[in-house]
Amino acid sequence: MNEINDLNIFELLDLERRLTERIVKKTKSSEIKKLLDIHKKVLSRLSDYAIKDPLTGLLNRNGYVAILQGLIKEGFENGRDFSHVLFDADHFKRVNDAYGHDVGDKVLKLIARVICQGINQPSYSGSYAAILHGENPIRIGGEEIVVISPNADAPKGYDLADKLRENIENSFNSQRELPSITVSGGLATFDGVRRIICPMETNYSWEEIANAIYVFSDSALYLSKEKGRNRISTLDDILLAQLSPEMKKKLGNLIKSVLDYKKE
Ligand code: GH3
Ligand code: MG
Ligand code: MG
Repeated sequence: MNEINDLNIFELLDLERRLTERIVKKTKSSEIKKLLDIHKKVLSRLSDYAIKDPLTGLLNRNGYVAILQGLIKEGFENGRDFSHVLFDADHFKRVNDAYGHDVGDKVLKLIARVICQGINQPSYSGSYAAILHGENPIRIGGEEIVVISPNADAPKGYDLADKLRENIENSFNSQRELPSITVSGGLATFDGVRRIICPMETNYSWEEIANAIYVFSDSALYLSKEKGRNRISTLDDILLAQLSPEMKKKLGNLIKSVLDYKKE
């Protein structure tokens, strides 16, 4: 049973569902069936605690890691792309400073709601496979939200990211209860990351690829902030950009792959 320790949160939930289904099939006792009904509800609440951020209801880091793991493995097996955009609220500290932390929290909740309305989110009581095929929003840190979209190459990923950015700008402009805010975004795609850091002969682990995807998104986000905010930058923008000392620091040990790629 040691291999259970290696399962990610969605694989564990899948396994639990299969086990319960088997018990339901095997038992004739109506009392046990009733208990299993309660068990299902308890598990659904527990899984919310395990995968969701309590403020925004978006996925948390547990969900993030499991989704990246699944999509990267699938991507290597089937050649399927996915896009990863990292959004960050612009000048969010000013909102907290001027209006207080509670208003800041409400701003974050509205950003999350607008993102959810603009994507096809899967049901989190469904299977891991179904979750991997939906568009998943994750609160990755304080005022940073990632959206991962399967079967999306760079142009598709950009269109979705820019649509969400625009929806957020418009939603805040068309209400009066909260201060207006915009978001900037940095887009990386699995295909792009694979092109840059995975020459055929090298075997990278999914964790290394996941880290590279995050670093590229974060660097593209940094470009968006530098260029004036309220915009999306992409992996290609990073490759075309002069690498500033700050950018070099962000790209850290990926820098050689980026420089090699630029030389080609
Ligand atoms: P930039 O446009 O460069 O991103 O500027 P910024 O002010 O958004 O960035 P900075 O990193 O300086 O500030 C982020 C702020 O987000 C600081 C922190 O207090 C706030 N923050 C992080 N998590 C939460 C939260 O859960 N609720 C509230 N209200 N504020 C939060
Ligand atoms: Mg930030
Ligand atoms: Mg910010």
